[in-house]
Amino acid sequence: MKKNSLGIIGGGQLGMFLCQAAKKENLRTIVFSTTENFSAKNFCDSYFISDFNDNTKIDKFIDSADFFTIETENIPKNFLKKIEKKKKLFPNSNIIEISQNRLKEKKFLNSIENIKTVNFKSLKNFDDLLKSFYLFNHKAILKTCEMGYDGKGQFRLSRENIGQFKNLNLQNYILEELVNFKKEISVIVCRSQKDIVTYPPVENIHKDSILRETIFPADISQNVKKNAISIAKRIANELDLEGILAIEMFLMKDNTVLVNELAPRPHNSGHWTMDFCKISQFDNLVYSIFYGNTRKPNPFKECRMVNVIGKDYSKKNNYQKKYNFYDYFKDEIKELRKMAHYTFTD
Ligand code: AMP
Repeated sequence: MKKNSLGIIGGGQLGMFLCQAAKKENLRTIVFSTTENFSAKNFCDSYFISDFNDNTKIDKFIDSADFFTIETENIPKNFLKKIEKKKKLFPNSNIIEISQNRLKEKKFLNSIENIKTVNFKSLKNFDDLLKSFYLFNHKAILKTCEMGYDGKGQFRLSRENIGQFKNLNLQNYILEELVNFKKEISVIVCRSQKDIVTYPPVENIHKDSILRETIFPADISQNVKKNAISIAKRIANELDLEGILAIEMFLMKDNTVLVNELAPRPHNSGHWTMDFCKISQFDNLVYSIFYGNTRKPNPFKECRMVNVIGKDYSKKNNYQKKYNFYDYFKDEIKELRKMAHYTFTD
C-alpha cells in the first residue's frame, strides 16, 4: 500500500507548518505532543498527547504512521531508536543525537576537513572552567551540552560572575570562546538518497540569543556564499542526510566561516521560504520523505522575516494588516516566546 502518513514529534509552529505542507500532498499527519495545547493541533489529522515515558502511547504513535520526522531535536534517544526498529525516521537518530549534544556536534564538525567551529573546551570541574576561561582571554560562554535552545542554558562569563558556577556539575557543559563575528548566517540543506538542494544563505539578527530577524539574501560576497553552501553540502553528505538540516554559521571579520550549530529539522531562519520561494523548506522535507527526492527552491524576491516575540504579539492586528502574518496560536504570551512571525518585501 502507498505510504501516506507522517508522524511528527513535536507540535509547535514548525510541526504546524509541516502539517500544512503535507496536506498539500494529500498526506495524513499525526503529531506527538508533550503539551495539551499546541500550535499544530488544528492542522494535523490526529495527535497523541503524552510525556516521553508513556511507552504504550509511544507504541501507538509509532504504529499510526508510515514515516517519521521531528520538529525539535530534544527527544529522548530511546524514543528515536524505538521508531527506527519499526519505521524510517528522517533524519536518522544518529544525526539527531549528534545535534542534541553540543560536544558531540562540535567534535563531529571539526572532524570534517576544512570545517571549523569556535574554540571550545569540555569541562569536568570548576578548575577546568577557570583554566579555559583564562585560555580564552576571559571572553567565553558556558553552555549546557544538551537541551539548550534560544539562549537557554547559556551564560556569558565574566570575572565578576564566574564564581556563581563553582557548585555546578560542569560535566554536562562546554566552554566556548566568545567570538566577535561580523554577521550570523544560515544555510538550509535538504537531501535525499538521490539529490541535494540548498537554500541560499540568509542573514540572521539575534538579540538576547534569540532570532529576531532573517534577511534574504545575506549581504555577503560571492566567495563567502559559495563557501557557506559548500560547508552545508559537505556536512549533509558526511551525515548521509535524508531530510532537512539547518546550519547556523558565524561569518568572521576575515571572511572565514565558523559553524555554530546544526538543527536537523525545518528552521526559523527558513520561514521566509514559505512566501518567497517556489518550494518552501517544509515542502522539500515532505518531498524528501515521501518521494525520495528534493526540488529546487527557486527563491524569487528579496525579503525579510521578523519574529513576533512575547508582548509584541499584542500588535498582531497591525502586523496582519501590513504583512504576511503567521500566528502560532500559542496558549499564553510569555517573555521571549516566539508567538508569530511575518514576512515582507521592500
Ligand atoms: P546558540 O544557541 O549556540 O546558537 O547561541 C545563540 C546565539 O548566541 C548565537 O546565535 C549568537 O548570537 C550567540 N552566540 C552563541 N555562541 C557564541 C559564541 N561562541 N561567540 C559569540 N556569540 C555567540
